[in-house]
Amino acid sequence: MKEIVEVAVGLPVFKTFHYRIPEKMRESLQVGMRVLVPFKGRKVTGFTIDLSDQPPKGVEEKLREVEGLLDEAPLIDSPMLRLYRWISDYYLYPLGEVIKTGLPPGLQLKSELILSLTQNGMESLARGGLELIQEKVFKEIGRCGKVSLKKILKHFLGVSKSQLFSWKRKGLLNIDAGIEGKEVKPKFEKVVQYQGDELIQPISKKQAEILKWIKEKGEVSYSELSKRFKSPSKPIQFLRTKGLLSFSRREVCRDLSVRAELKPYPKPEPTSDQDAMLSEILKGIHSKRFSPFLIHGVTGSGKTEIYLRAIEEVLVQGQEAIVLVPEISLTPQLLSRFKDRFGENLALLHSGLGRGERYDQWRRIWRGDVKIAMGARSAIFAPFKNVGIIIVDEEHDPSYKQEEKLKYHARDVAVVRAKQAEATLLLGSATPSLESFYNAEKGKFKLLNLPERIEGKPLPKVEVVDMKKEGGLLSEKLKAALKKNIEDKKQSLLFLNRRGFANFILCPDCGLTFKCPNCSVTLTYHLGDRSLQCHYCDYRIQAPGDCPKCQGHRLQGMGIGTERLEQEIRTLFPETQVGRMDHDTTSRRRSHLQILKRLESGSIDILVGTQMIVKGHDFPNVTFVGVVSADTSLHFPDFRSSERTFQLLTQVAGRAGRGEVFGEVVIQTFNPDHYSILRAKDHDYVGFYQEEIQFRKALEYPPFSRFINFRLAGNSEKRTKAMAEEMGNNGQALLKKGYGKGIEILGPSAAPFAKMRGKFRWQMLAKGKNPPLLHQFAKGLATRMEVQLREKGVHLDIDVDPVFIL
Ligand code: ADP
Ligand code: ZN
Repeated sequence: MKEIVEVAVGLPVFKTFHYRIPEKMRESLQVGMRVLVPFKGRKVTGFTIDLSDQPPKGVEEKLREVEGLLDEAPLIDSPMLRLYRWISDYYLYPLGEVIKTGLPPGLQLKSELILSLTQNGMESLARGGLELIQEKVFKEIGRCGKVSLKKILKHFLGVSKSQLFSWKRKGLLNIDAGIEGKEVKPKFEKVVQYQGDELIQPISKKQAEILKWIKEKGEVSYSELSKRFKSPSKPIQFLRTKGLLSFSRREVCRDLSVRAELKPYPKPEPTSDQDAMLSEILKGIHSKRFSPFLIHGVTGSGKTEIYLRAIEEVLVQGQEAIVLVPEISLTPQLLSRFKDRFGENLALLHSGLGRGERYDQWRRIWRGDVKIAMGARSAIFAPFKNVGIIIVDEEHDPSYKQEEKLKYHARDVAVVRAKQAEATLLLGSATPSLESFYNAEKGKFKLLNLPERIEGKPLPKVEVVDMKKEGGLLSEKLKAALKKNIEDKKQSLLFLNRRGFANFILCPDCGLTFKCPNCSVTLTYHLGDRSLQCHYCDYRIQAPGDCPKCQGHRLQGMGIGTERLEQEIRTLFPETQVGRMDHDTTSRRRSHLQILKRLESGSIDILVGTQMIVKGHDFPNVTFVGVVSADTSLHFPDFRSSERTFQLLTQVAGRAGRGEVFGEVVIQTFNPDHYSILRAKDHDYVGFYQEEIQFRKALEYPPFSRFINFRLAGNSEKRTKAMAEEMGNNGQALLKKGYGKGIEILGPSAAPFAKMRGKFRWQMLAKGKNPPLLHQFAKGLATRMEVQLREKGVHLDIDVDPVFIL
């Protein structure tokens, strides 16, 4: 039996550590379990990642023992561990924290400091004469035996941490590392099982009825039983003593926050295009080899039906399926389509679920109760053992990239997981990301096309309006189209990618604007509560009536947001029902779904909204879509802004005319000749791709090079800047040493938003053609800077640009 275990602690440290396994754990401890280990005076959770007979050279003396084993069975198996190692390497993020990201939040334990009284302390309390606050605290600790330090500080405002430690020094208190008991536990219910009906003695009519009912069902929960029969406890107790029933417990699944309406969706016969595509995909599934496909199909071309059929085949093969969708697309419509096809064989993972629900869903997958997992980006970590297919719908969607902590891109992790598992991969989109289409061009993915909408429904007619020639917010063309649609009793969507009432407020007398004190942005005016808000840090103040600087009375709102647009539409069309869907109207759980429901039922005629309205639903009565300003995303300081604009416009336009009636779209812009807009107008993805890829090539942007961004953030402007310069010097020094051939360093420079949430931000970009060299350079630089950064209180975030080429 192995004596040494390697542990990845769930903390921001790159190294892994070795511990000795105590005798009593040697039989049960396996790779993939959580353990409790001593670490720098604390107890922390870690994940066991390897077992060995010998400690690594040089650490023999110092090895400490594992203090606790937290699992009875491994949470992760070796294929998952392999995936986590890849992620840790590729995204330059500590392995323990990567594993933590992949597990449901309820499984994470943190150690904390626990207080108890020493003998001495108890005696002082009994003797009396302590200071009042000390007496109160000691009484509380004495009453409970053990109390967490956090709790004492929270309850007794007059007490400080240093005071507690001074009492410890005096020998009155123990302060030890312990474990917080907040772990989510499985929930159980009592069930009654049928055992037999060999009657030796007669039973009453009620008893017989109950027995018959349970026999039909095999197993029923106690709560079901009491719903069906009045006071069933006595009769079932009796039946149990006769050996006809038995009691046990089973795990229950907490209710899901997204409920699917159970509507039947007739399973259509595939069209010939779908048939041809499916036969390619089935070849991949049957080969049991890595088979990556990029499905390029316009909205409404029948991609989802392809996914459903491919999954059916994977299930027949005895394998499992993972389906990723952008968070916002997890609508009841999509869900009920999957539920209708697969029933209970489906687990859901997304951030809208509560902790308990998420934990239960994860366990259903982990135990093998379900074969399909569906969810937003974190569903890529679904703990299946034998994945046959991974599907990424709307693969171009930016929400697949996590922008904080572990900055992984779920589509890229999907590619790697499918490759490692020798599974089939389906990436689907009407507007594939440049990198995926490039992969297809290079033959890394097999490209499959669905060029037409189902039943030959035409794509909507798109018109572009040059706003340089128009006055005001809405062009004549857009207004006329809305009016006509109202008269025809059809619904319309109006898209504006900016929430609030006015972008910012300006005093025309002295030029004052209102800036966020924490971020380098102006505050947005919200009419609803007359506030000025920061959209980055949630800072908000009451909007003043007069200019606080010059006391002028002419404060003006500049630029428009969805709130103002809604108001304009209400004024223009007072008789119609107008709804708004943006961050402000959907902050409550489920409110997003309620708005969609009102649209579906026809109680909204015109829905105004941000990009939330763009995806995930299919409303046959929506025949007109207006884009109020196509320019917002075009001017974003990012080399992907053209791509993003093209995707958004195409997706928005795709919402129109999904039913029987022809759809129409009007796009308003100050850049009517921009290729993103012209190509979107013509529904010409390939044309857009060819133009955009030329531009990327000319500038050596991804996919012709790779980027790694080093972002620094700190509380002190001076120190952050100094560290940025230091990082620049270190980077150049590494290059001089020949560390990364062909790597170019851009910056350091202040970040586009130089201050965000109170932190000053600098960045430096490394650009290179050889990914392993680039990653090696990044690791080298991070290691070199680690100590200095910690000393100066500046945080380094490494962001790997999501260009992933197989
Ligand atoms: P996408 O995922 O590409 O947007 P869907 O799979 O949702 O497309 O298909 C669009 C619509 O066409 C849906 O209402 C779907 O039920 C229907 N549909 C899909 N395939 C067929 C088919 N073979 N025959 C008839 N209707 C179909
Ligand atoms: Zn702010």
